[in-house]
Amino acid sequence: MGRGLVRALGEGKSTGGRRPILLEINPEGGLVVAVDIASSAQERRVRAAAFDLQNRIVLELTRPHMLVGNKAMLGAIQGIIADLLESPELGRIPTLTIGISVPGVVDAQAGSVVYTGIETKDLPLGSALRETFLASVIIQNSEDAAALGEFHNASDHESNSLLYLSVGAGLGAGLVVAGQIYQPERKSIGEIGHMTVKADGPQCHCGNYGCLSTLVSSEAIVERIQAALVQGYRPQTGVLKGSPIQAVDIPLILDAAEMGEMLCEDILQEAAQWMGIAVASTINILNPGIIVFGGELYETGDYFFGLTRDVAMLRSFPEYFEDTQLKRSALGRNAGLRGIGILALEELFRVSIQSQ
Ligand SMILES: [Zn+2]
Repeated sequence: MGRGLVRALGEGKSTGGRRPILLEINPEGGLVVAVDIASSAQERRVRAAAFDLQNRIVLELTRPHMLVGNKAMLGAIQGIIADLLESPELGRIPTLTIGISVPGVVDAQAGSVVYTGIETKDLPLGSALRETFLASVIIQNSEDAAALGEFHNASDHESNSLLYLSVGAGLGAGLVVAGQIYQPERKSIGEIGHMTVKADGPQCHCGNYGCLSTLVSSEAIVERIQAALVQGYRPQTGVLKGSPIQAVDIPLILDAAEMGEMLCEDILQEAAQWMGIAVASTINILNPGIIVFGGELYETGDYFFGLTRDVAMLRSFPEYFEDTQLKRSALGRNAGLRGIGILALEELFRVSIQSQ
């Protein structure tokens, strides 16, 4: 109450002693800023949102980016936060915590970005932002943040755990256990893309052969369709026939498959075999209660989701499969931003309680 984070609502009923004071979180007691960086072939943008202390979005900004390297990443994040905070809509409410969701490996404990696919390496993001904005800062991997966002969004909390799987330019996973992001020693987990599913498969950039991501990422699927077209495959449907080879992308492939284009059906079915095998294995190991599927392959309709679910059902331990709800992401590209906002709020109240 001293810091204005909670306020009195009135007095409650006495149960024999002094009447208790009812408290509520004061929405205007401060701001939490969430920043989410998306960096796929399909989407390159930085988004920032200011949340009040009751987790409602007050203001949001989105910018495209062509980030490469530490300096560009830090500059883009500092720039969008500064612009957000200077907006007249936010008035003079102090910013208490900043959360950043980054597509890559992070060290949440140290508050740094260890590695991303956009050439960011060993970037002490936390300390730099703390100095600039005088707020506490937390950093989290995008899939972990998205898992938390989806967990809070699920209205029926029949399960207190949730596994988030994302398939796009890369593959990622985040796990929520007992309402918290599972990260032993605050390090990342969930490199499902490097699960071996095909012993003699193609070599992955990690050095191993037959990793899931060599068979299932959007890039892998698009390349296979393009290769077939270059080799003279004649499309049967207008969708594929009418577009230049370079313009073939995942939404187009999904459309064509739904219209019965055999090449697209075959390649998606094969990809779903590998993905379903990986999903079945994770169900057998974790029995996670809820699995949410996000990313480009699952965002645009039910087609690839249906194929994946069928394989997962055939390949997993039946009792565990029955316990597991499989669903497509409801939040889509907002999952990471929502999740990092929630995490920043949790951090704010944790730090406030500790500093008493
Ligand atoms: Zn690999």
